[in-house]
Amino acid sequence: DAAALLERRERHLAAVQEHYFADPPVIERGWRHHLFDTDARPYLDMVNNVAAVGHAHPRIADAVARQLNLLNTNSRFNYASIVEFSERLAALLPDPLDTVFLVNSGTEAVDLALRLSWAWSGRRDVLAVREAYHGWSDAADAVSTSVADNPQALETRPAWVHTLDAPNAYRGRYRGADAHRYAADAVAAIERMRAEGAPPATFIAEPFYGNAGGMPLPDGYLQAVYPAVRRAAGLCIADEVQVGYGRLGEFFWGFEQQGVVPDIVTVAKAMGNGHPLGAVITTREIADHYRSQGYFFSSAGGSPVSSVVGLTVLDILADDRLQENARVVGAHLKAQLEGLAEKHELIGAVHGLGLYLGVELVRDRTTKEPAPRETAMICDRMRELGVIVQPTSDRQCVLKIKPPLTLSRAGADYFVDTLDAVLTHGW
Ligand code: PMP
Repeated sequence: DAAALLERRERHLAAVQEHYFADPPVIERGWRHHLFDTDARPYLDMVNNVAAVGHAHPRIADAVARQLNLLNTNSRFNYASIVEFSERLAALLPDPLDTVFLVNSGTEAVDLALRLSWAWSGRRDVLAVREAYHGWSDAADAVSTSVADNPQALETRPAWVHTLDAPNAYRGRYRGADAHRYAADAVAAIERMRAEGAPPATFIAEPFYGNAGGMPLPDGYLQAVYPAVRRAAGLCIADEVQVGYGRLGEFFWGFEQQGVVPDIVTVAKAMGNGHPLGAVITTREIADHYRSQGYFFSSAGGSPVSSVVGLTVLDILADDRLQENARVVGAHLKAQLEGLAEKHELIGAVHGLGLYLGVELVRDRTTKEPAPRETAMICDRMRELGVIVQPTSDRQCVLKIKPPLTLSRAGADYFVDTLDAVLTHGW
């Protein structure tokens, strides 16, 4: 049973590999935006941005089975699928982003992106925003500033990491109409780094603030920061691991929402629908420059199976019109949640776009005192009622909503009705 499996898990899996719940059900099967436990109990999956085209998609299962029966090997061989997949990725990005590296995870993509930027300028200093998560390797961890993921995050930064205020227009230093001031502060910080002889080699950020609660960056933020970084001869990395690939509905990439073109883009999660697959996409010039100084090889990155998964995910996104679904169902869900906010004082704000939303829970709408304990209990109660949702942000008081892009209007309504019931009857 579930308790016995948990005990065995805790005996041999590292404790740091946490699962979502204190008493997690044993999940056996997935279908579209639902998961089923070993008692065949369904759960609406509102948290899983990895299974972007839906759990257990039969087209992916068929494509993988066919490819595994034919060939799987390392990427030093020449085969059609890796070429086709790279072409398809490059076609999704604006010029001059046309050169692809294939890896196995978001962490690897971020790690490689940082290396490309260091090789480009011959410098090391990196500017990151607070409340970010970019991965767990030494370099990706160094630029991950979220204290929710790592309570020591801000004390253990290497000297080459510099941080900017979290550009949070709801509860940060500048709010509402003042949010444009984050950009001016960021530009001033970059100028200061230049004056001190340590201009940033790299600026890295999610182009839509996923980890802080699923909110857009202030208007014009990256339009101010990117040119300032480039004036300092640095490169701009857009980490699209969470927010890119159609989830925002109106935009395929988060950087489109900000009206900028990055120098390096990192992608993972959704692109493999749960199969380990990640990518760095950059310019030919930046990629070639790296070649003169560094090394890259990934045995399984872009393997025949991984490339076929990547191609199939892109086919499904297009054929099932999932970006459009994210736009339509996301707008419906957001409107319903805003309706709930009129009824329940605990909801301080509803953030986000498409199927990347955040419901921020506060004990007091004026002071905006975060409600992390309530958020945790609400998540547990929602689980009992068959909905999986989890907290995010440094204050752990935002319900993070990023379901598979297959979410239906009925699924969205079920989520809203369940949250309404929990907020009405208690948790
Ligand atoms: N960047 C961002 C923005 C992420 O959200 C994550 C994963 N949560 C990563 C990088 C790391 O990706 P992975 O877990 O695939 O290594």
